[in-house]
Amino acid sequence: MPRRHFTNRAPGQNRGRPRLYTPEVIKQRQRDQLAARKAAWKAEHPEKLCAVVRCREAVKPLCDYCSPHHARLVAHGSPLAGPLPARDVRRMTARVLVVLTKIEQIDAELVTLAFAAVERIVVAPGHQPVPPRTARKDVAHFLAVELHRLQHPPAASPAALATGRHERHWRTEPVDAREAFVAIMSAWLTTITPNAISGAPHGVRPVFDSPKAIAMAVGRAVLMLRLRLEKTRCLATAALGSQLVEALAPMLSLMQSKVLRMMARGEKRAATIRRKRGETLVTAPVPEEAPTGPPVFTF
Ligand SMILES: [Zn+2]
Repeated sequence: MPRRHFTNRAPGQNRGRPRLYTPEVIKQRQRDQLAARKAAWKAEHPEKLCAVVRCREAVKPLCDYCSPHHARLVAHGSPLAGPLPARDVRRMTARVLVVLTKIEQIDAELVTLAFAAVERIVVAPGHQPVPPRTARKDVAHFLAVELHRLQHPPAASPAALATGRHERHWRTEPVDAREAFVAIMSAWLTTITPNAISGAPHGVRPVFDSPKAIAMAVGRAVLMLRLRLEKTRCLATAALGSQLVEALAPMLSLMQSKVLRMMARGEKRAATIRRKRGETLVTAPVPEEAPTGPPVFTF
């Protein structure tokens, strides 16, 4: 059935005005208006450069950043942030596992509380039914879908089961609180610890200079336990990450001090080995001071 035209005014009230609109016409008109606004803005600011220091690119119309920096702002919460290098996160995970075992021996109650928070934010919502999507950017819906997927991994195909490939490519076990906790702490400590990021994936070393960027890295670390993220889930990563950052702040400050001490010891040991070998390599010092309190995040 062809789409019916609809009028936006009562009959007889639209004399002298264009009479009929379809959704396609309205959409096209909005597109034309946006293009006109962009062209006017560009004429007004012909030589405006990106707001990032030392970036010499021209800005996108109606925006403070050039196209690549704007893309990073949308996907990672800051124009300087980016994906975390997997190698650095793996190194941090090894430290987190050691520190976690130590803290479990010292203060089991704190660890239980932290796991309970992860259980409440990550695991439990995955067993609830997904609420229907009500708006174009329905964050609660996106997040519920992702958390549901973490608890209901797809079954591997018989062909994959026969070859054993599913063990590498498929996740068949639901995500539990401990696994999520380790992923959260590894990503979080990698973003905030000086000298923890050594690599530069995609050509640029990411810098996590805003609370939102840190929260998005934390949320992404959890959701990435399933699959590679799509761009539309950026909203879900920010929502999940900010909840986790708020709930796990006390645990983080304890872990951070222990990880920093561990890294400093590693540096010292490496320096001793180098000295014994007669090498004189200068490395950047790792700051040893513990954080004064849980960091305060505002959005
Ligand atoms: Zn730029």
